[in-house]
Amino acid sequence: MKLELPSSITKIELDGRDFYIKRDDLVDPYLSGNKFRKLYALIKTPKQNLKRVISYGGTQSNAMLSIAYMCHKKGWEFTYYTKPISKTQEILSDGNYKKALEFGMKHIQVSLDEYKEYISSLRFNLDPFTFVVDQGGAIKEAKEGLKVLADEIKELSFSSLASPSGTGTTALFLATSLPKHKVYTIPCIGDEAYLRQELEALSPIPPNLSILKPKKKYHFAKPYVEFLEIYHKLLGLGVEFDLLYAPSLWLALLEQTDEDILYIHSGGVYGNTTMLARYTKKGIYV
Ligand SMILES: *Cc1c(COP(=O)(O)O)cnc(C)c1O
Repeated sequence: MKLELPSSITKIELDGRDFYIKRDDLVDPYLSGNKFRKLYALIKTPKQNLKRVISYGGTQSNAMLSIAYMCHKKGWEFTYYTKPISKTQEILSDGNYKKALEFGMKHIQVSLDEYKEYISSLRFNLDPFTFVVDQGGAIKEAKEGLKVLADEIKELSFSSLASPSGTGTTALFLATSLPKHKVYTIPCIGDEAYLRQELEALSPIPPNLSILKPKKKYHFAKPYVEFLEIYHKLLGLGVEFDLLYAPSLWLALLEQTDEDILYIHSGGVYGNTTMLARYTKKGIYV
């Protein structure tokens, strides 16, 4: 794997304000953004130390795609568990899912009744050659890769950073590795209470992590006209962002902050084709 490190910085002017973007999206097309940082410790693991990786979550997941690619490169088996998938046609045409299968991912559907128990039993009697990556890459090993990112950031002169949250792993370990920096994030899956709960499962929440509030309640992975608007605005400035996480944070940064910010691009643009098709299907254009 040829990885573009340290990732570069792009400056943009958005609504009359300067923003700086750390281009983690350019590290690798499939191992991009925070998934690259979160999987860093595994990427650095010698091939022969593992035989298989197990993970679980949704079929649109960016983490799923990155793990599939990593395992493909390493020659590790990859088994991915999901709840039963209903809208088969829609899922089969999903960019991330299709690509992950091409990378050799073995997909297993677990019935709704059994799912929770099944997932919590994945680590029982695990052999030393199997590694379990929790949903979205929320593993404590993620800290190592985020420390590498933090070291790249320390070389720069920014004191405020921004990164959107799903599990919150990225924002959390960025904040713990850079205690003098302010790290802005926003919950994109569930609300603030849910995010805090996810964070606390990994580590105590540091005081320099600032959780912004979305102006309205957004449901994860649903199309919103204001998301598409900010996506196009940013694209027009030369940088493509994902449509699931980035729009909400950009909107909040514009409304709720006023200092110079280094936005850590969290990748995930591979899934945009599928999301853009859903916007079109819903008749949402800008
Ligand atoms: C996975 C992902 C996130 C969320 O990262 P967490 O570490 O789970 O908070 C944010 N942005 C993009 C584009 C992602 O793919």
